[in-house]
Amino acid sequence: MVNVCDINVMKPLLAEHGFHFSKAKGQNFLIAPWVPESIAVESGVREDVGVLEIGPGIGPLTQQLCLRAGKVCAVELDDRLKPILDITVGEFDNLEIIWNDVLKLDVPALVQEKFAGLRPMACANLPYYITSPILSALLEAECFEAVTVMVQKEVAQRIAAKPGSADYSAFTVFCQYYAEPELLFDVPAHCFMPQPKVTSAVITLRTRQEKPWDILDEDIFFRTVRASFAMRRKKLSNGLASGFPELGKTGASEVIEAAGFDANVRGETLSIPEFARIANEIVKRRGA
Ligand code: SAM
Repeated sequence: MVNVCDINVMKPLLAEHGFHFSKAKGQNFLIAPWVPESIAVESGVREDVGVLEIGPGIGPLTQQLCLRAGKVCAVELDDRLKPILDITVGEFDNLEIIWNDVLKLDVPALVQEKFAGLRPMACANLPYYITSPILSALLEAECFEAVTVMVQKEVAQRIAAKPGSADYSAFTVFCQYYAEPELLFDVPAHCFMPQPKVTSAVITLRTRQEKPWDILDEDIFFRTVRASFAMRRKKLSNGLASGFPELGKTGASEVIEAAGFDANVRGETLSIPEFARIANEIVKRRGA
């Protein structure tokens, strides 16, 4: 197997194919072998798993996933990488590379087509310029047992944040609605070529098979969450009145009271079941 993390091997290979890194495509490739190996081990990928990788690059994580998974589907946007991947991962017959933009794919349909009889998981060192849309698509697909990704450390902290903390955001609630996050380990910038300006971190999100709360209307729930974070450090009633103009200030205050909260409560302190109580009150008022 080609040692993809050895820059003395890879630099001449990249030069031979006239490959130049694209900053616009988020190309920071791993050159520390412990990182792709640890990601693959921690992801829980095994023979009975079909794994979707996003952005194989020159293939360090792809190799480690192919050594463990029943099947790997790797989606890569940059087809200049084709001759290089032929050399680094061409030997694996459990690998299929899909040359496309992952955001243009129907992820649930792909999983159904490619991973029949396997436990679907997703695993990736994500291109940082589109971390949120990719992660949102993977979670909303609701077809993976677990999603293990490397992202900027501050994004990982945001995903795993607790209510009331500075990192807690609408994106936290979105991710934790679909999955239970666990921060795994940090990855310093010197583990990449070229080096990013930030520290990275690996996080695993185990998707919820059943959601342990009662939400009457998912759209209203997420609108409530967005409205609540739109005006941080202000009273929740201000955010709700602005996000739901039809309620008005009085209606927003009535909703908060009916859901059993103090009139001065702030949105960024609420847990998912508490957001659900507020959202359900809004739904009931609309139906009344
Ligand atoms: N997995 C490799 C590694 O760990 O060294 C490369 C990771 S690099 C951070 C991100 C990869 O995602 C690049 O290969 C890039 O070309 C690819 N990529 C960027 N945007 C993409 C998109 N929209 N769809 C699929 N792949 C994309």
